[in-house]
Amino acid sequence: MVASTMLYGVQVWGPSIGQDGWKAMERPLVSMISRLIRAKASVPHDIIRAELAAPPIETEALTRAVSFVHSLWDTTRDRYTRLALESSRQLALQGDTSCWFAQMTSWFQTHGFTMDRLPPFQYSLQTPLMYLTRVEELGTKMAFYREHLLHLTTDGFVTRPTYMDTHLSHALRCAIGQLRTSSHQLEIETGRFRGVPADSRICRLCHLEPETELHYICHCTVYYEIRGRFHCLFREGFGPLSRVMSFEDQRCLGLYLLEVHTHRDTLLRRAGGRQHSRRYGSSH
Ligand SMILES: [Zn+2]
Repeated sequence: MVASTMLYGVQVWGPSIGQDGWKAMERPLVSMISRLIRAKASVPHDIIRAELAAPPIETEALTRAVSFVHSLWDTTRDRYTRLALESSRQLALQGDTSCWFAQMTSWFQTHGFTMDRLPPFQYSLQTPLMYLTRVEELGTKMAFYREHLLHLTTDGFVTRPTYMDTHLSHALRCAIGQLRTSSHQLEIETGRFRGVPADSRICRLCHLEPETELHYICHCTVYYEIRGRFHCLFREGFGPLSRVMSFEDQRCLGLYLLEVHTHRDTLLRRAGGRQHSRRYGSSH
């Protein structure tokens, strides 16, 4: 993958990269995945990465560096690499801060571990290593993602969602991916940008409650008939959202999402047209 090529030799240059550097390296990877599901540019990196179960690139780099150091300690004392390690360590002990050992030590220290107590590696979205840019947005989106869509293994690893590993057309993959990454046009999302309070982002079609993902997918009365045709998806009821979104037949889910999306567009266009003629129609 892209990341493996980028991280070639990271055991050597890793310590010299700052937070901004890691983020910049990650950008091509994130934008590639974003394009795959046509996600908005504002979706936090953490969510995009989780869609592929890809750890932050710095975590990936640290994992490699740690296992490299482990393997150095495991070699016999007369091997060249082991001798190099020992001499670099001696330099560091004498106060040389520019040698490899000292740089590696300080890189590891910023992540809370030391050269002689290296961790087994585990990646979870709760890790304090996350970059917290745009806190407010990250907060609500991450909370939603975590609550309804994120699946972790029992030992804390992110599981890749099945739609990523299912053969789907581009349109179907996008329909699912956009919903999962809040890259849609539902009121709950567009209202955020207009500064409307969450409970006032009412569904413009049924006017009954805020147009959240749950309302749109499971409850809105306007899509009642469509839901009837996808009874397998709602066999166990109209919710919870996490169950519907992780339905075993992701193709069926994608087809349903595409259909409600099209229906919503049509109805809104029609409603918009009516409003338009009410406002301007009478005078002409
Ligand atoms: Zn509605």
